[in-house]
Order: sequence, then C-alpha cells, then structure tokens
Amino acid sequence: MYGPVPSRRLSQSLGIDIVPFKVCTLDCIYCQLGRTSEKTVERKEYAPINDVLAELKDRLETGLHPDFITISGSGEPTLHSRLADLITGIKNITDIPVAVITNGTLLFRQDVRADCAKADVVLPSLDAPDQQTFQRINRPHKDISIENVISGLAAFRNEFAGQIWLELFLIAGVNTNPGQIAKFKDVVKHIRPDKIHLNTAVRPTAEPGLQKLNQEKLRDIAKQLGKNCEVVADFSPRPCGKHNETKPEYLLSMLKRRPCSLNDICEALAISTGDALKSITQLQLRGLISSTEKDGLTFYHANPR
Ligand code: SF4
Repeated sequence: MYGPVPSRRLSQSLGIDIVPFKVCTLDCIYCQLGRTSEKTVERKEYAPINDVLAELKDRLETGLHPDFITISGSGEPTLHSRLADLITGIKNITDIPVAVITNGTLLFRQDVRADCAKADVVLPSLDAPDQQTFQRINRPHKDISIENVISGLAAFRNEFAGQIWLELFLIAGVNTNPGQIAKFKDVVKHIRPDKIHLNTAVRPTAEPGLQKLNQEKLRDIAKQLGKNCEVVADFSPRPCGKHNETKPEYLLSMLKRRPCSLNDICEALAISTGDALKSITQLQLRGLISSTEKDGLTFYHANPR
C-alpha cells in the first residue's frame, strides 16, 4: 500500500500495489519504474488479498479519506488472478470509489474484463495506434498485439457501465506525427472512452532522453481528438483528511511509485519544505532514495530493491 499520492487524474489516491516489482505485460520506454524484470501474461495471486484488505482497513481506521482507492502495481495489476475478489473486499470495507490503473493489454480476455468491471473507474493506457509504434514504445510480451489491445478496450466499453478514462502518453518524435494522430483519432472513436487524458514525459523515464511535448502541442492534439480530451496538467492537490504524515516511511512508499519533486512531496503530504527536506535527507542517508535531474528540476525516487 502506498500514499496517499498526488495524482493529476485522481486527486488524492491511496494506492494498492498487487503485483511485485516489476511484473508487467509491457516494458515501456517511458516507465517511471525502470525496466521490466518479468515480462509475462500469466495471471497469479501475486499478493495475498486478505493481507491487503487487512492493511487497507487499518489505514482507513486512522481517519484517512482519499478521493480514490487505486489498484495498480509495480507492474500490471490485471495480472493478479483475484482482482475481482479484491475489489469486492474493498467495497465491503468502504464507500470510497475504486479505480484500476491498467495498461489495458489483457482486456481482450473475458475474465479480465469481468474483474475490471467491478471497479468504479478504469484508467487504461494506449500509447500506440499501430503495431510498429506499439513495439517501439511498449516493447510488449510476444503474445500481445495492438489489435488485441484495441479490440479488448472496445469490448470492455460495450460491457462496462462505469467510467473509462483512457490515457495517451505522448513522446515527441515517437508517437506524435500527423499520421499517428489521425490513427489515434480513429482508434479512440472506436473505443469510446468517457475521457481521454493526454500525458507526456515530464518525469524521469526508463530510457533516458525522451522528449516531452509542450503545452501548446498537447492542446492542439487534444483539440483534434475531440471534446472529451484534456491535457492532464500538473496536479493541484489539496490536503487529504487528517493525513499530515511526515514519517520518512510514507515518503518512501510514495517515491516507490513514481519520482516526485520537492514541491510534489510538500503538496502530497501537506508538509513544509523543511519537513520534506528532513525526511528526504534521512532516506538518502539510509541509501533508500536518490535524485535525478530532468529539465532543470530535481526528482527524488526510491532506489531499486
Ligand atoms: S508504464 Fe506501466 S505498463 Fe508500461 S512497463 Fe511501466 S508498469 Fe508496465
């Protein structure tokens, strides 16, 4: 469990990590967690769900009230074979909406669609409108093709009455030429998500040197993709309930999920710069976190386990 973390899409989100680092169907060049160590399509009970539910109950009993409980993972959460039981278990504990963040690659399977359909919001990603771009950006498991991914997303739309917020991660010069944008337009028309979120390489990525798109270019693409498309701007979080943790362990759990700037940390944990720096220094001295520069900003991240 990690967070609450600031999320540009889900405000304050308490994360449940249900697959180990880093088990995934893909090995995206922009992944904030680094390279995939186990590329697989095998579904298993990676984390015991009773333990996860007991921990969630404890955390919520402290008075924490995030905007969403978000199932994700240090990899792809739909690889967990008991995803449906987990969502049912969460709903027995709390009324807080449940979100699933997925790369969408297993939605061509009926069992995965049925599991995800128990959530309130599903946030799949789609970074390529064709096989060539898919190989280049997502480096998929050999059993996954972009046709499967797109048909799985469309099938899920037909079966799921909840919200689908589709994220397109755009990298300058990789998936943003006019031909690719035109194909994206056709694909999203076919999938019919409730919202389309445009994101770009703002944070440190698995492969160095990826170029982010500027706001103007993102806004232009958003316009082309339709009125339900928005640029996911930098998050603007608010303090989360009584949660005002300064414990280095909470900061570490947040940094295991994604790199954060000093400002991200202060806003997410509702703490002062001084307190944030104190926790950062403690974790650095223990060798648990490091920092990286990107576009003139310092990002802190957890060291690989
Ligand atoms: S970005 Fe997501 S889908 Fe891509 S490799 Fe990382 S964890 Fe897997």
